[in-house]
Amino acid sequence: MTSRTIRGIGASPGVGLGRAWIYRKPAPHNGSEPDSISVLPLTEREPELHRLTDALSAAAIQFEQLSAAVAERAGAAEGAVFEAQAMFLEDPALVEPLTTAVRVTGLPATIAVERVFEDAAHDLESLDDPYLSARAIDLRDVKARLVGLLGGNTVHVLGGVGENVVIIAHDLTPSDTVGLEPDRVRAIVLAEGTPTSHATILARGLGLPLVIGAGAEVWLIEQGQDVLVDGADGTILVEPDEREREAYGRRSAAHDQRQGQPVSSRVPIMTAQGRRLAITANAGSPAEARLAARNGAEGIGLLRTEFLLAALSQGRTDAPGENELASAYGAIFEHMPAKPVVVRVMDAGGDKPLPFLDIGDEANPFLGWRGIRILLDRPELFALQTRAVLRAAVTHETDLRLMFPMISSVEEFVRARDFVWAIVKKDTFPLKYPLQIGAMIEVPAAALVAEELAREADFFSLGTNDLVQYVLACDRGNPRVSGLYDVAHPAVLRLIDLTVQAAHKAGKPVAVCGEAAGDPASIPLLVALGVDELSVGSTRLSDVRRLLSEEG
Ligand code: PEP
Ligand code: MG
Repeated sequence: MTSRTIRGIGASPGVGLGRAWIYRKPAPHNGSEPDSISVLPLTEREPELHRLTDALSAAAIQFEQLSAAVAERAGAAEGAVFEAQAMFLEDPALVEPLTTAVRVTGLPATIAVERVFEDAAHDLESLDDPYLSARAIDLRDVKARLVGLLGGNTVHVLGGVGENVVIIAHDLTPSDTVGLEPDRVRAIVLAEGTPTSHATILARGLGLPLVIGAGAEVWLIEQGQDVLVDGADGTILVEPDEREREAYGRRSAAHDQRQGQPVSSRVPIMTAQGRRLAITANAGSPAEARLAARNGAEGIGLLRTEFLLAALSQGRTDAPGENELASAYGAIFEHMPAKPVVVRVMDAGGDKPLPFLDIGDEANPFLGWRGIRILLDRPELFALQTRAVLRAAVTHETDLRLMFPMISSVEEFVRARDFVWAIVKKDTFPLKYPLQIGAMIEVPAAALVAEELAREADFFSLGTNDLVQYVLACDRGNPRVSGLYDVAHPAVLRLIDLTVQAAHKAGKPVAVCGEAAGDPASIPLLVALGVDELSVGSTRLSDVRRLLSEEG
């Protein structure tokens, strides 16, 4: 029997094989109200209001408890997701109409909750903003909990799944995701989902392979069918054949072994040419940093701060403050004592919106207001985030390096670098290690001026994910053109070569932090081109070390 392939978008790396567990949530409650609602007599309205406020308080306590449990299990940023949900319960924009609906209109509390939360969720969805739509899911999650507490429908929690399952769902809420037992679940496949949704962030934090945007085809998968999921490239194989299973078995055994025992990074990786190659990790949350440390990372080669910011700013519109951010960075740095940590300053925009940033409609978001462009235009945000990172680095004696995304000219790099240095000098941060500031090479123009850039930057990091899409005019998130997306294209390799040559001429190191760094097919090319460091997903570390030890 041959397997069937469904393609989605890889959102959390790793490979999982399990039996399909189809998760269809009950239909949303809008429209399911009884045809006629009897309005409460005046005497019953105050007691009903008390029932409502009790339910609001009880739900808040539940979310706080959930937040603490998740923070301990997966990290502060993941826990913050539920704190944000608790905040909905105090939001006057919801609480006031709820009170009016019960006290003035005389609606039973359950109906009031249904209407008010559903209206708010609709409003968010109608803004046609993927980030805000994701918040609508959160809102409905809170609504379900409240209705449950009020004695209506019980909260639908995705628990009690069998062993070794692959969850197939339309979309998941944070409660769904946290209700999952990672030991039982091998992977998650979503028909929808967004890269910034909580489910995505949490699945990453839990180290679960996740494919999003797999479309309606997922409903052709039957309960109990074997499904193999590659959360990095977004491939889903239904009823994989023997050859595919064997390939999976090998990778899975290596994966399990890696999970079971901490990986030593004491033996340095040397290339066939006798050069030292550092293997560091990409991270976006404390949980990933912890996993990176456990899996033998020699440091963090890319900290995606926008993921941390997204997790911290769920359910609110203001930017996280300096203290809050400093402690969030600290929760990551504490896993990397005396190891280099490359913090990429906020790379918002493109496919990564943030609630506190009004990016507006853009015809070509990947060519628009993103990365360093935003920070240079918003110096107050740039300064706040920089100070928070520096403070955390001082507290944890971190070997901090800062890196700028989307650099397209030497002038832009120099402006950003000097901005950071002005802050460092003004506030005198007693850093344990000298601060280094580098540039991401992900815009072709940066690679083409690498020689000039290398005189200004302390290091380069090749963001191949974007570099390939810009060089080949090929959207990295569009499955229809994924056949054209090729790291090994001669045009891409020439730009990488140019970058490495220019950096080495100036005595500066070059890392690769795009997905290619962890891709067995690309690694030999990158090594042959002379890169000094590969920064890979924290779950890829031991595979990459093993591959390089065998080759070296
Ligand atoms: C890249 O573009 O290769 C990169 C590492 O950054 P991101 O994937 O976050 O855009
Ligand atoms: Mg990039």
